[in-house]
Amino acid sequence: MEKTGDTGVILLRSEELLNWSREKSLWPLTFGLACCAIEMMGAMASNYDLERFGIFPRPSPRQADIMIVSGTVTYKMADRIRRLYEQMAEPRYVISMGSCSNCGGPYWQHGYHVVKGVDRIIPVDVYVPGCPPRPEALIDGFLKLQEKIRTEHPLLGNKEIVLSDDKPAEPDDFLPRA
Ligand code: SF4
Repeated sequence: MEKTGDTGVILLRSEELLNWSREKSLWPLTFGLACCAIEMMGAMASNYDLERFGIFPRPSPRQADIMIVSGTVTYKMADRIRRLYEQMAEPRYVISMGSCSNCGGPYWQHGYHVVKGVDRIIPVDVYVPGCPPRPEALIDGFLKLQEKIRTEHPLLGNKEIVLSDDKPAEPDDFLPRA
């Protein structure tokens, strides 16, 4: 500007600016549940350089805006997962990573201790298939989430998450649907 005198005016809708800032600063909460978490950690390693997408892991749910559910969701952990989700600030997003989190995985039929999909306790934005998904698949999940955020209308409140109730989850809440 000092050299040319150009003031560099950018015109865009405020929603586009909000969406751009959100999609380019996804901060995932760092926690893992089972073997898929190893692949998630691999994706966070330096050779994949996730920070080029603005993805930067955070240790506290209050600083995070995306939860990666990587691994087997047991009944014992379900209530903790939902509590962590509720501690995250809006707007918050969820990536379900791997078959266990998507639908119960190899425990789908006989796993009496496994929730048949994390979407029974929290809303999921992107599902990443695989057992386990490779880091590249998780990165693709992040890109899909960025595409989704790009189409949102935050000023119209389309990202309101309403959980079914405020009560602590009971084991019966997670039984397979009829
Ligand atoms: S989907 Fe496969 S790799 Fe991932 S937590 Fe389940 S059993 Fe482990």
